[in-house]
Amino acid sequence: MSIQQIVLVSRPKGMPDADTFRIDDASLPELQAGDVRIEPTYFSVDPYMRGRMNDAKSYIPPFQVGQPLTGGAVGKVLESKADGFAVGNLVTGNLPWATQAVVAANGLKKIDASLAPASYYLGILGMPGLTAYFGLLDIGNPQPGETVVVSGAAGAVGIIVGQIAKIKGCRVVGIAGSDDKVALLKEEFGFDEVVNYKTATNLTEAIADACPNGVDVYFDNVGGEVSDAVINNINFHARIPLCGQIALYNTTEVPMGPRIQPMLLTRSVLMKGFIVGNYQARFGEGVKQLAAWVNEGKLRYTETTLKGFDKLPEAMLGLFSGQNTGKMIVEV
Ligand code: NDP
Repeated sequence: MSIQQIVLVSRPKGMPDADTFRIDDASLPELQAGDVRIEPTYFSVDPYMRGRMNDAKSYIPPFQVGQPLTGGAVGKVLESKADGFAVGNLVTGNLPWATQAVVAANGLKKIDASLAPASYYLGILGMPGLTAYFGLLDIGNPQPGETVVVSGAAGAVGIIVGQIAKIKGCRVVGIAGSDDKVALLKEEFGFDEVVNYKTATNLTEAIADACPNGVDVYFDNVGGEVSDAVINNINFHARIPLCGQIALYNTTEVPMGPRIQPMLLTRSVLMKGFIVGNYQARFGEGVKQLAAWVNEGKLRYTETTLKGFDKLPEAMLGLFSGQNTGKMIVEV
């Protein structure tokens, strides 16, 4: 059977572009015992996938040149030789960027689209939701009345971090890259203040104005100069969950920043990096709580959806220019 797949043409230096990707025709192998044939309906594109385009050792192996990229997806089972998986089941897992795929079923999880829209399993009930939940609660440990700042605030993770911090009784300040995002976060998602990092003339002062009592928890999704400005306002005994550094993912040389260790030391600040997979043993707890908050109306979500398999590269590149509000999804 003939399918289409999107392959990595070459390893980008700096910002990837449309030429980084190519659509190829390919054929599917026969199913072996334990396999299913899947048609993806929703693909997730995520900033970490940029790191996989480099030939670098990390917590996850690099993509291979000439091979399809892979990422989180929801799909429908079209054929099954795996126990427990029937034609028509909806599943989520890591799938190749292909119009259909034959994969081992043991890496897939069945989902129930009657409980939440299927794409939510790639967002609020999936990896980004769990990242927000464990990073904020386990490392940030927000206390009622404290000030929580989150960068990348209008993105898949940040929009959840801010709302969980509100549930925990905190004052929540977001940092985002457009006035539309600022308005949305304040009006629809309950953020107390939001700073536009692209238009603020002095970001350190803008954050100080938005955080009159300083910053107790900084959930860092972006790194770079935004984080430098937040850390200039950091309180004694603050906690910094280090989640993402998207401002640096396309740099060709590591920029020299301020040396922050003296500040962290003298203010007794905890800064801790984490990968959501560290919490795998507790994913059940996280999904249960996130789903409960969604059902109670305490946690809301939004997505930016591009339609069409061929939109995958555009969606991926859009993450780096702020094209998404909430989770970036490609619907096939
Ligand atoms: P987003 O949905 O937030 O998409 C990226 C957003 O980042 C864009 O919309 C844009 O918003 C902002 N952005 C892009 N470039 C820059 C820049 N140079 N400086 C500042 N902001 C920028 O992505 P996610 O919510 O999925 O991920 C957020 C971060 O968390 C990423 O860094 C990601 O790598 C990381 N992550 C880490 C995980 C972990 O296990 N540690 C798991 C999941 C995500 P704007 O318009 O505001 O600029």
